[in-house]
Amino acid sequence: MTPQEKKRRDFIKKMAGLGVLGLAAAAGIYGAKYYKHHELRLRPPGAVPEDEFLALCIKCGQCLQVCPYDSIFLEGVDGKAGVGTAYIDPQKRGCYLCKAFPCILACPSGALDHEKDDIKLVHMGMAVIVNENACLALHNKKVPDSAIDAIYDHSPALTKKEIKNRKIEDLPNPSEKRELQVELLKKLEKFRGKDCTICADLCPYHPDPSLAIGMVAKNGGYLPEIREKCVGCGACVELCPTDVLKIVPRATYEQIYGKKA
Ligand code: SF4
Ligand code: SF4
Ligand code: SF4
Repeated sequence: MTPQEKKRRDFIKKMAGLGVLGLAAAAGIYGAKYYKHHELRLRPPGAVPEDEFLALCIKCGQCLQVCPYDSIFLEGVDGKAGVGTAYIDPQKRGCYLCKAFPCILACPSGALDHEKDDIKLVHMGMAVIVNENACLALHNKKVPDSAIDAIYDHSPALTKKEIKNRKIEDLPNPSEKRELQVELLKKLEKFRGKDCTICADLCPYHPDPSLAIGMVAKNGGYLPEIREKCVGCGACVELCPTDVLKIVPRATYEQIYGKKA
């Protein structure tokens, strides 16, 4: 664990005083009937049903090579969910829902369905609030530097110096990958020391993120509300300073929240 990650974790503990209580609350939200979702990995956009995905993914890594945000990993030998298969760990890096879904287009095996390279057809899972009390907005707390700094460690297109100094530099002829990762960090930097609405403001659902998540007033502060169009990309999970959110892979809005409004 890097010093920044440790700082972030300590901050979360201090804010929430959670530990086992938080996990119990999460279990209460999901309910036993969704337990199977916790056994699942979050897959890249366009993934076919899990059994088919495990059979079709040929572990070629084409999707992760084209991902400009470095969001996709391949399961290691200790992985339970198919050694070498592609997955996303939103704690490390969410998916940013690229408009043309290059990961889907690059998949040669059909594990990522080329018919689903459209935001209207993508569904990876569903965001849930597992740790409401830790939300900075609920307590009118400002975003700590450590929360912003941590995301530099998730951004491998930056130089080592930039990551070390937590500061973006102007470099000539940046790659598209670098430009996108820098653009994300610049948006995030605006929240340093400010009120937190990161999850709602940086949700990449397009064209209208407010259909996926929005801030609502609660107990003198604000709390995110997950909405019908959430596709479970996990960006909010990665960027939230206090680990308020998680993704339930492959779950639908109806399964988690009941009927659509
Ligand atoms: S949509 Fe973009 S960010 Fe998301 S996994 Fe695919 S290539 Fe990566
Ligand atoms: S609320 Fe937005 S950022 Fe969070 S998982 Fe849903 S679509 Fe992604
Ligand atoms: S990112 Fe959202 S959930 Fe996390 S602390 Fe900020 S407002 Fe709360």
